[in-house]
Amino acid sequence: MTMKDQKAVIIEGAGGRQLHRAAWIILNSSCVVENGYIEVKNGVILNVHKGSPKEKCIDHGPGVLMPPLVNTHLHLELSALKNSLPFGKGFNIWVKSLIEKRESIGQETLIKEVQKAVKGLFNSGNLFIGDISTLGITKPIIQKSPLNGIFFHEFLGSDIPSKIFIQKNNKISFSLAGHAPHSSSPQLLQILKEHSKQSGLPFSIHVAESDDESEFIRDKKGEWANFLTSRGIDWSSWDIGNKTPVAYINSLGLLDPLTIVVHALNVNDNDMQILGRSKAKVCVCPRSNQNLHGKLPDIEKMIKNGIQPALGTDSLASCDSLDIFDEMAFIDAHYPGLDPKIIFSMGTINGARALGLESLTGSLLKGYKTPVLYKPLSSVNKKDLFERIISNE
Ligand SMILES: [Zn+2]
Repeated sequence: MTMKDQKAVIIEGAGGRQLHRAAWIILNSSCVVENGYIEVKNGVILNVHKGSPKEKCIDHGPGVLMPPLVNTHLHLELSALKNSLPFGKGFNIWVKSLIEKRESIGQETLIKEVQKAVKGLFNSGNLFIGDISTLGITKPIIQKSPLNGIFFHEFLGSDIPSKIFIQKNNKISFSLAGHAPHSSSPQLLQILKEHSKQSGLPFSIHVAESDDESEFIRDKKGEWANFLTSRGIDWSSWDIGNKTPVAYINSLGLLDPLTIVVHALNVNDNDMQILGRSKAKVCVCPRSNQNLHGKLPDIEKMIKNGIQPALGTDSLASCDSLDIFDEMAFIDAHYPGLDPKIIFSMGTINGARALGLESLTGSLLKGYKTPVLYKPLSSVNKKDLFERIISNE
């Protein structure tokens, strides 16, 4: 059995005082304890100690106790579309097949696959999520699940919804997402942003993902313009033209620390500076980008501009798994210049910050009410600890 076959162990620490020991404890990427134990009570971390406890403890072994993973951007409601859409035939074809396929599947199968995906997330230690939903079917499922995070109700087009529901909660908060600058009217995007901002919750939006999007915002014509017109969306009053998607949403006032810009794939140097200055959060989904667009986001340049990207998988319609361990392993393999500690932070603390949950998780700190993850690893030394975790071997 390889290490990869061994399941992550989730320690929820409910009930009385418990001690959990392991060969390694990662509090965050800059604080590692070798041979230590965590003291928890009622799910809250009381303390992290060095050495072995004198009292009874649960000894997990030679692996690592670490913060759970954060999948900052996924669409659970598309889980039934796994392995059923064409890659490499262009983004438009993919979007059209997605819409057709989703309609043909039926609610019951969609729901069953969401439940399966939620179970998979929990078992692999991906305990915090930013779920994007247009249909709303995932809401009751994740509310009942052991997962935490934000449910983003996503809107697109030009209709302004008559009812908007936003709520800040301990476990799952409800916020809003605009689909993208090329699919949603500027008025709709501004209203959604304003509502989520007033509640102090993050607002999520796909930005600068496809060439069609960039072409439309720059040239005010092209395949996408025709597509919108054919769907009866009147975009003639949108203030686009001669802009990049990032510059455009910046001109709409959408960029601030409570906005999550998802993808940022087609961005130039000026866009990077705009994103960096705005302190907006950025979430990258490299495996999905590779499958749908054959290219990868410039993570190194983001970091140079002061951006700390979070990680998402996007949906199973464009990616093999919803597991951030797999996303980190992909980044490790495709970005040889990135420090494994940075990749680890992308899958934990950066996601927690993007979702506004950094006082709850992302690190293992005293007073945090967060589950703890145990990842089995054997014969690991301090030098290659992070590399071994993110390479998911
Ligand atoms: Zn997405």
